[in-house]
Amino acid sequence: MAGNNRTPLEASSARPARLVALRQAREAWTQADDPVARLYRRVSMTLSLETLLGIFAEELGQVLPFGQLVYRHRLGHQDFVYTSGMGGPHRCDYQLNLEGNHYGALSLTRRTRFTEDELEAIEFLLGILICPLRNACQYALVEQAALTDSLTEIPNKRALDMALARDCSIGDRHGDAFTLILCDLDYFKDVNDTFGHVIGDHILKATAKALREATRDGDSIFRFGGEEFAVLLPHADSTDGEQVADRIRAAIHDIRIPCGDRQARVTASAGVATRRKEETPVQWLARADDALYRAKDAGRNRTHIAHVIA
Ligand code: GH3
Ligand code: MG
Ligand code: MG
Repeated sequence: MAGNNRTPLEASSARPARLVALRQAREAWTQADDPVARLYRRVSMTLSLETLLGIFAEELGQVLPFGQLVYRHRLGHQDFVYTSGMGGPHRCDYQLNLEGNHYGALSLTRRTRFTEDELEAIEFLLGILICPLRNACQYALVEQAALTDSLTEIPNKRALDMALARDCSIGDRHGDAFTLILCDLDYFKDVNDTFGHVIGDHILKATAKALREATRDGDSIFRFGGEEFAVLLPHADSTDGEQVADRIRAAIHDIRIPCGDRQARVTASAGVATRRKEETPVQWLARADDALYRAKDAGRNRTHIAHVIA
């Protein structure tokens, strides 16, 4: 370091001057209202991809007019798409790469042609965006991994807890009906004992696929525990829940995993609980679990519906 060779007196007299200069630079930087300083400042303050792209669209809009900004990126097993504004016939596309890695594609569209000067300005501003964008993509992947079950690649128990809390709060504010289905494979220990864990794992993966196929886009599926799955249905009462649960059970029943000259098969039991007014996530989950227990107790391979009225 430069200061190491100085006498203590020199160092102490140099330091305040440097600190003063730094303070001035910091003040100039934080108060600068040019688009470059503003963009640098703002994009360095978030790890949210959506917020980041919102800031970029806003700051770019201050520099040049555009109709629509679309950003697309495959993040793990999910497609992330951000769109702002309305499109037009003229368009410019950018593949966003940094140090040999791809961080998505960004397109701008509008009614008039982009000039060379404007394209240069866009590329310059994208250069400011790219590092924070890489950080936000990496953060989103870590977040996704923390909420995903690694075997079945569907959301895990932690994701279910978050979804239940979110749906309870929406239900309280807007009165929407939400139904929770808990689904547990029957005698799965015997399946593992008979066919082995590898076949058991194949069945769990096939069950996740069956759940995905037997539900609609707005429904959410989760691996809740070892051989337990959960499905959250928005805008659904217990009649809808029973239908979906039976459809899921039929789809699971159709699974065949070849194993030598035999085929591994399973059945499932389901408990269905439509959320009661002001019920907490824990109470709601406990009622669905109790309904599942009753389906098991009544002989398995069936659906039990929890009472909606207390
Ligand atoms: P029930 O009908 O009462 O649900 O019986 P069950 O045998 O399905 O239930 P039990 O709780 O006794 O056993 C659950 C089994 O699920 C035991 C465990 O080995 C198996 N299991 C849990 N997670 C996994 C996994 O990731 N892979 C495999 N292959 N098996 C798993
Ligand atoms: Mg089981
Ligand atoms: Mg179980």
